[in-house]
Order: sequence, then structure tokens, then C-alpha cells
Amino acid sequence: MDKKKIALKAVEELKKLYPDALCSLDFESPFQLLAATRLSAQCTDARVNMVTPELFSRYPDAESMAKADVSDVESIVRSCGFYHHKARDLVEMSKALVNEFGGVVPDDIDVLTTLPGVGRKTANLIAGDVYGKPAIVADTHLIRISNRLGLVGTKDPLKIEKELRELIPPEEGNNYCHRNVLHGRAVCDSRKPKCESCTLNSFCKYYEESKG
Ligand code: SF4
Repeated sequence: MDKKKIALKAVEELKKLYPDALCSLDFESPFQLLAATRLSAQCTDARVNMVTPELFSRYPDAESMAKADVSDVESIVRSCGFYHHKARDLVEMSKALVNEFGGVVPDDIDVLTTLPGVGRKTANLIAGDVYGKPAIVADTHLIRISNRLGLVGTKDPLKIEKELRELIPPEEGNNYCHRNVLHGRAVCDSRKPKCESCTLNSFCKYYEESKG
């Protein structure tokens, strides 16, 4: 089966398994999703969701965060790990938003990546979830599952983003990525994937090869 067919089958199967492909970070504005996504690097979404209520009650938007004392932000986000970098990025990112974009989060992936602390993964998430643009969020689950299915043969997020943009229908990309996160957590575990019960196994390269 060629990659395009596998990709389309994966899109349809995951849609059946996870009809509600929602982002698992809590947010009430584009700025808050941007900030929460920065905090989620090397941290669970559940942990981020425990921290952001206090963070956003103190600093709900770019204007207020731009004026924040970094040490105060650090004290709030400490439990997310890498808190020095994350706090600094939140404040610097907010300053850039205020100074260069009038406090409005841009909708263009390349423009978003010019903001401090914003990489392609975050930029794709914002473009997709907030602005409904075609997006491929190459996070750890998408990287693992794409390799296992045989859609890609690399761990490089940028290559994966580019290759999947050729395989996944643009209008499906964003939700497909959210569904990969759900499937990665529920079934396609990094260490012990539940292949026997996985409904993607009929077209999964990893499963085929594991049978010998
Ligand atoms: S068959 Fe196994 S490796 Fe393939 S997607 Fe399912 S759980 Fe992951």
C-alpha cells in the first residue's frame, strides 16, 4: 500500500476512534494558547492546565505579560520545568507581540516562528487551532506514529511536517495531529504499543514487521 493510501486510512480510522479532536490545553484566547503551548514543552498538558489558571488570572493577555516581572512568572510556572527559559520566553514573546503586532497573535506560521520561544510545532498549533489553517503539529506522538505506520522514515520534525503535508489532506491536518496525540496516549504507547487491539494494525508497518 502506498503512503498516501496509508495516510488516508489513518485519517479515517482515527476520526472514527476520536471524533472529538480537541486540544488538551485549556485557553480562552489565542494569546493564552500560545503561552500554554510554550509551557507544554517537555511537560504534560495536564500539568500546564494546573498552572495556567493562576498565570492567566495575573497576566491574561500580551499587554499584561509584557510588563510582568520574569521572577514572578518563574514562581508561577516553576512546576512545568525549564521555568527560567519558559518564563523569559513568555515575557519576551509578549513584548514582541505588543511592539510588533499590536498585541494580536499572528496567523502565519513563518511569522509566528519569529516570536521568542515559538518553534514550528507551536506555530502550527496556533495556525490550526486558532485560525483554522492547514497545520501539521509534529510533536512526539505524531513523530512516533508516523514512523511506525511507515509514512515517514525520520525523526526530524521539520521533515515530517513537510512530508505529511503531502500525504494528509490539508483540511484534516490539524485534527489528525490531535488524534495522533490521543492514540499515542491510549494505544500506540512509546514503549508498549497495544498493536493486537489497534484498529490501525492492518496497514501498520511496525505491526507487520513485528510479526516477523
Ligand atoms: S499497530 Fe501498533 S504500532 Fe501500529 S499504530 Fe497501532 S499501536 Fe501503533
